[in-house]
Amino acid sequence: MGWQGPKGKPRPVDPWPRLAYFSPMTIKPIITLPDEKILRQHSTPLKAVDEAARKLFDDMLETMYDAPGIGLAAIQVGVPLRQIVIDISREGEAPKPLFLANPEIVWASDARSDYEEGCLSIPDFYEMVERPAEVKVRYLDRHGEAMEIHANGVMATCLQHEIDHLNGVLFIDYISKLKRDRVVKKFQKAGKLGRL
Ligand SMILES: [Zn+2]
Repeated sequence: MGWQGPKGKPRPVDPWPRLAYFSPMTIKPIITLPDEKILRQHSTPLKAVDEAARKLFDDMLETMYDAPGIGLAAIQVGVPLRQIVIDISREGEAPKPLFLANPEIVWASDARSDYEEGCLSIPDFYEMVERPAEVKVRYLDRHGEAMEIHANGVMATCLQHEIDHLNGVLFIDYISKLKRDRVVKKFQKAGKLGRL
């Protein structure tokens, strides 16, 4: 998910402590509209959270911090596996990366909330989206341990946005057809001109 930060300014990239067990990371190119062929794919569950999965997690995190963003799904770097990374910590706070493999929403509240969403695959476009205000998500962490998170606020929105990516769903699918057609056309035109 994209991040506007205060008054729409992009979030500065802070240096963050690199733990010894992290392998050297690679910033990967993020796939954006109009490349819907890749973004609309349904991602495959991981059989195990192995070294390759951890390496992908690390590269995704580095790519997300560089963008900068607060959430990224593997398909956004062209890998159709059910892996997402999230860090909603604010500028000046210690980084709190969250690594989720095979995440699944096991409960969603009836109460809903609005949040102005953005997406690293749809740069510079933000729109209000209404979703369940609270969710419970089951997942495997970077060590393959089964975990459950009960989230509200930005974290609930971010989890739902990223899990949608694993099912080929984009946040523009929730906005009016008129607005969606307009943004898709804008990216198609820019793509033809070679600006993306
Ligand atoms: Zn997104």
